[in-house]
This record gives sequence, C-alpha cells and structure tokens, in this order.
Amino acid sequence: MRRPARHQNRLSEESEISLLNSWIQAQKPDSGTNPLSLTPLPSAASVGRLGLGGGDTPSFSRYSGVNLFSQLPISRKTKNGLKQSKYFEMTDIQRASLPHALAGRDILGAAKTGSGKTLAFVIPVLEKLFRDRYTPECGVGAIILCPARELAAQTFEVLKSVGRHHNFSAALIIGGRKEVDLEKECVNNMNIIVGTPGRILQHLNGTVNFDCSELQVLVLDEADRILDEGFKKDLNAIISQLPKKRQTFLFSATQTKSVKDLARLSLKDPEYISVHEESVTATPTGLKQTAIIVPLEEKLDMLWSFIKTHLNSKIIVFLSTRKQVIFVFEAFKKLRPGIPLTCLHGRMHQMKRMAVYMQFCEEDRSVLFCTDVGSRGLDFNKAVHWVVQVDCPDDTKSYIHRVGRTARYKSGGQSLLLLTPSEEIMIAKLHAQKIPIRTTKANTERLQRVSGLLAALLVKFPYLQYKAQRAFITYLKSIKKNKDKEIFDVTKLDIDGFSASLGLPITPKVRFLNKKVNGNEVSGKSSDLEPESSSEDDELELSEEDHDIGNFKGEEVEKVSLLGDDTTNENDDLADITPATRVLKKKKLKINVHRPVGTRVVFDEEGNTLPPLARVAHTENGNDKFLVDKDKREEFYRKHREGLKQVDTEDKLLDRQRRREKRTKEKMKRKRGNIESEEGSDSEQDDPSEEEVYWNKKAKICFGSSDSEGEEEKDNKNKGEEKEDRKERKREPGVGGSLSLEEQEALALKLLSSMHKK
Ligand code: ADP
Ligand code: MG
Repeated sequence: MRRPARHQNRLSEESEISLLNSWIQAQKPDSGTNPLSLTPLPSAASVGRLGLGGGDTPSFSRYSGVNLFSQLPISRKTKNGLKQSKYFEMTDIQRASLPHALAGRDILGAAKTGSGKTLAFVIPVLEKLFRDRYTPECGVGAIILCPARELAAQTFEVLKSVGRHHNFSAALIIGGRKEVDLEKECVNNMNIIVGTPGRILQHLNGTVNFDCSELQVLVLDEADRILDEGFKKDLNAIISQLPKKRQTFLFSATQTKSVKDLARLSLKDPEYISVHEESVTATPTGLKQTAIIVPLEEKLDMLWSFIKTHLNSKIIVFLSTRKQVIFVFEAFKKLRPGIPLTCLHGRMHQMKRMAVYMQFCEEDRSVLFCTDVGSRGLDFNKAVHWVVQVDCPDDTKSYIHRVGRTARYKSGGQSLLLLTPSEEIMIAKLHAQKIPIRTTKANTERLQRVSGLLAALLVKFPYLQYKAQRAFITYLKSIKKNKDKEIFDVTKLDIDGFSASLGLPITPKVRFLNKKVNGNEVSGKSSDLEPESSSEDDELELSEEDHDIGNFKGEEVEKVSLLGDDTTNENDDLADITPATRVLKKKKLKINVHRPVGTRVVFDEEGNTLPPLARVAHTENGNDKFLVDKDKREEFYRKHREGLKQVDTEDKLLDRQRRREKRTKEKMKRKRGNIESEEGSDSEQDDPSEEEVYWNKKAKICFGSSDSEGEEEKDNKNKGEEKEDRKERKREPGVGGSLSLEEQEALALKLLSSMHKK
C-alpha cells in the first residue's frame, strides 16, 4: 500500500529526529571539554564538572576529529542549507561550541571578531526547533537579540540562508520601521524572532496575545554589549517575560564573565568556550595594526591625506560622535576626494541607514564614516581593506570591535589608529590586552592639508559652519565624559588649534569648560560639567542604539540661525556654542538719572569735540574759552531758516503732486472696473491674466510717476533739474503728468478697448 508523500515525510522526519537524539546523547561531550584541545583529557568516567577530575586512562574529546558540518548530528535540512550557503568546514568556535549547544547546554562563547560566531548559534537554534517539531502554529520558539539593526538584519539573512529548507516562520523585528501594526498581527506566529531589544520589548509590552511562554532558546549576540548599561532596562524587562527553563547562548569577541550578568540570565552551568584564550593575539591574525601619534589639530589633515592616497580601497572611518561623522562626511564630500563617500549613524532614517549599509557591502572602493553604531558584528560582504579610527576608542574592547570590521574569516586587513600625544598611553593598554599594534610618528611633510580648504568651504556654505561647531563641541564633550582620565584629558588638547582645523574662524565658547578655552588653559574639574541631558548621549551615540528612532532631519535645514540666538537654556546643547566674543550674561541695565540728557556733540576737523555753537564762536587771546559773536549767530540761524523754508515748499509741492497722481490712478481703476463689467462679466479669470499684467505695467508707464524708478530719479536730481524736467514733460504729449485728466482717461480707454479687441 502506497502512503501519501506527506505522511511518508513525517515518518522519515520522525525517524531522523529520533536518530539525531540518540546520536547526540551517545556522543554528548563532557562538560568542560574542548574538541580543539590536543592534549588528552582524563578518562571520561572520572571527568569532573570542569573536566579536571583524576583518571587513569586519558581520552580525547569525542568530537576531536570532527571538523566538517556534515559530521555533526544535525538535520538533513540544515546540512543542505549549509552546503548551499557554501559552508563546509567549521571554524574553531563552531567546532568547540556546536557539540555542547546541540546537547542542550547554555553557552558563553568568546572568539575573535570574524571567526564565525553567527553559525555557532544559528545552527543549534534551527536544530532545537526541528527536534522539538516546531511549526508556525507553535508560536515563538527562539529569540535572537542583536545590539544594532544592521547586525540583526545580517543575522536574519544568515538564518534565512542556512534554514532555507526548514518550515519555520521567522521575522526581523527592528526599530525605526513604521510597520508596527503589521508586525503585531503576525509576531505571535513567528517561530524565530531576530531583532533589537527595544522593538522586541515594544511587542512584549504592547502586542496583545504575544506569548513567549514556550520559548526554547534565547540568544544574545554581542552579549557584553547587550548586557551593558545602555540595554540594561530593556533586557531585564524582556527576560522577566521569558520562561526560566530555556537554553541561553551568549556570544561575543569580548565576552562578559560577570557572575552578576550570568545570574541575571539565569544560566545553568554554562559552558565557557573561549577558543582564542590561548592565542597570542586578541585580534585576527590577518590584521595589521598601526597607530600614529598626531596632534588633534592635524587629525583631519591626516585623514584627508590617507583617503587621497587610498582611492582604490574600501575604508571604514570611525569618529566619536554623530555630529563629527556628519560634518566630516559632508565637508569631505564637497571637497570631492575622488572616491565614493557615505556615512552611517544612529539618527539616520531607517530606510536610508539600511540602504547605506547594503550599498557599502557591495562597494569595492568606498569610504564609510560612522560612529560606534557600525562597530559591532557587521560583516560587509566584500572585504574591507582599512579601518581608520580618527578618534581614540573608549576602551580596548571598543578598539577590538572596530578593527574587527576588517580581516574577517580568512581574509587580511589593516587598521590605523590616530592618537593625540596625550592619548599615547592607550598603546600600552592595547598591548596589555594582547593586541599587536605598532606605533609610528606622523610624517607631516607629505601631509595634504585640508584645514584651509575647510575654512573656505565654511565661508561658502554657512550651514557647514554650524555643523563644524557641533562636531567641535560634541567631540570635547565625549572626551570630558570619558571616565578614563588617564587617556582622555581635555586640558591637554589644543582647543583653538582643533577649532581651526575644522575650518572654524573663531573658537566656539565651550560652556562646560568653565572659562574661555584658550590653548591649554581649560579647567578639567568635573564640576564644570553641565547637567546631564539625554541629548548628550544621543550626540555621542553611547546610549542604546535601538532607541534611535529614525529621525533624520534634512541636514540642510539645520538652523544656522540658532547661532545668533541669545537664549541660554541649561539643557540645550545649542546654547553651548557662542562665538567667543559674545557677552554671555546679560548685564543689568542701569539708568543713570544724573547723566545729562540731550547734549549735542560737535566735532572739529581734527575730530575733537566742541560745544554746539563753538564753530561760530571765536577764542579770546588764544584762550580756550569760546565767545559767541552775536552777528555770526544771527547769520547762522537765518541761513538755517531759509534752508528749511525752501525744503518745506518743495515737500509740499511734491506731496500735492503725489496725491493728485494717486487720485488719478484710483479713478482709472474704477473706470477700468466699470468697463470690464460692462463689456461682459464672462471673463472667467479671477487671477490677473497676462494681459492684465501687461495692462498694469502699461498704466504704470503712462501714468505712474510714483513708480520706484521715477522716485529714484527724482531723488538723484537737484531741484533745478527737476523743474526743467517738468517743463520738458509738459512739451511731450503722452508722457504722464503733462496730460489733463480727461486726456488721460481717454487714452486709457483707447488702450483698454484695443487690448480687449486683440
Ligand atoms: P563573528 O560573528 O565571529 O564576527 P561571523 O559569524 O559574522 O563572525 O562570520 C564572519 C565571516 O565568516 C562571515 O562572512 C561568514 O560568512 C564567514 N564564515 C563563518 N563561518 C564560516 C565557515 N564555517 N566557513 C566559511 N565561512 C564562514
Ligand atoms: Mg558576530
């Protein structure tokens, strides 16, 4: 009897699952064992929790010889997915962690950047749900948390690719997208959710029926980042809604070992798998790392020179703050270095952000300016050649993740770190963390200076000046806020030089440094810090990236005018920037009641002040005392009176003429209105037609002596010339002012009727 194909499939799947289960059980690696270890372990029977128990017959880990995916106890569907995605041989972290993960253990995995941690958790997620026979009706079975949207999208792609033959439903749930309602409708039917903590929490709190009580696996990629302060609240809220009985995976290149963190996640005897702990370096072996000591004011010159000499490379440039990224990107773009430039930061619109990320993935040569939003986990398809850190990273961890964007998997890469002389101590800290970085001095002779170009650019594009100021201020804030005062010391920076290097004409006043910053004269006292505001965190992008709701305002629209705004709001960053010459505090306005009023000051030819009538006075015997001659005084007043009289008559004449012209115009208007209504109210246009405009113009020419041109002309001519002019006009027929009212009306009517006939 032939059985239906579906039934057959189910049976074969059932038998495959039972086979896999017994295989996994039989081969279950001992806790604490590592198949990569070449030293024989104590006998399996006597191995203690950490694999250190005593025993007579040493043995190798059961997975010691296993280095292909095909040798693992995983489903055919996953194996096929791996094969089609071109994954055959396992990387170290995969070899070490997969046997434990498949056996159902919690994992704390640590391995260098680019070493394949994603597959180390994606495969066990798929397998767990497969063996538990999950279907879309079963609801949420696994959640994978990523600290950045692009990383979540990238992980989702890997999941889709490897899990292509499974029948699970999966969703990418990330912030900055408008389709929340759509997500709400289907999120509960998703077996696997990949997303950022903020958005997933949003659904846990706000989506009716969203039920994670059957969750089997929770994954924290870049676990130390998700466990740190920025995500703390969200993560705690998420965990509180998840069942305690589950499998949990934590992966990162810089793994947490904090007992507190592990307690928060209720891990049960996790396997701590750190495959590169014994490695000589904490960074990929194919990575060549260099640091250059360069004064702050020459950093942009250095960056510009670097870009100009690497026009065929794919480069990621890290800067401390979003405002720096925006300024450097926009300014350099205007200077056209000869290589495509792009930028990525947390406040970009989600669509644009994703487009930038995907575009950069495809590029062979390009420069991506970004904040630390691009520092974790991202794997840009085509290899990145260079990672340039213009600003010193916050700590060694951050350094490892930033440089980890290059030299991924088996490819090589290079990194360049620019440090100011006061930050040189960072090198020792990196060495202490097994990071092989060599230091060189900057060769300033071959430097291509960009500061001058920037200054010119800022004059041409005032909005860039504002951006430069924001970059300046946010950078100093980031230095000020950093807790590692051994490295980050704002008092050691040449702040005027830095301002000039951004092309700024004057050093903006930095309110959080209590006095005008001038060379090295700044106060580094913590009390100088302004009251903390959330916007500061946004600027520095140190807070949770997921909360950066897409809000990319047109950069061109940013308010340059705010520079001139005197309002000083303590919490308003914008108020920090004021040209150094500005008096910040409004002085109390004092009125001196004893001050003499109405004094007229007259200056002599040498610029000395004289009493009002001194010019018409004479000095007696060279004495400084002025005596006013009576006749001269009379003469002075007479002249003034005459002058005033003359001006007065002219004014009256002019005024009369203006009024007459105004009356004529009004009359003409009325007349025209009458004609239009008489000739037919069939004129459909409400707006003045071209003809009407023409007519108005014509009327102006004919009758308007009050048009601006005429006015100007009049102002420029002296009165005598004006009279002559008037006489001339009287002689010329058809010129305004010389016709009688009747004549003017007749002419207007004639013109009007001829136009309507046309
Ligand atoms: P990590 O998370 O450790 O930084 P990823 O998981 O992002 O590293 O992997 C880095 C790169 O290595 C990716 O391009 C990925 O496709 C590739 N990769 C991972 N595992 C394998 C493998 N077993 N075989 C071939 N390529 C792999
Ligand atoms: Mg990763």
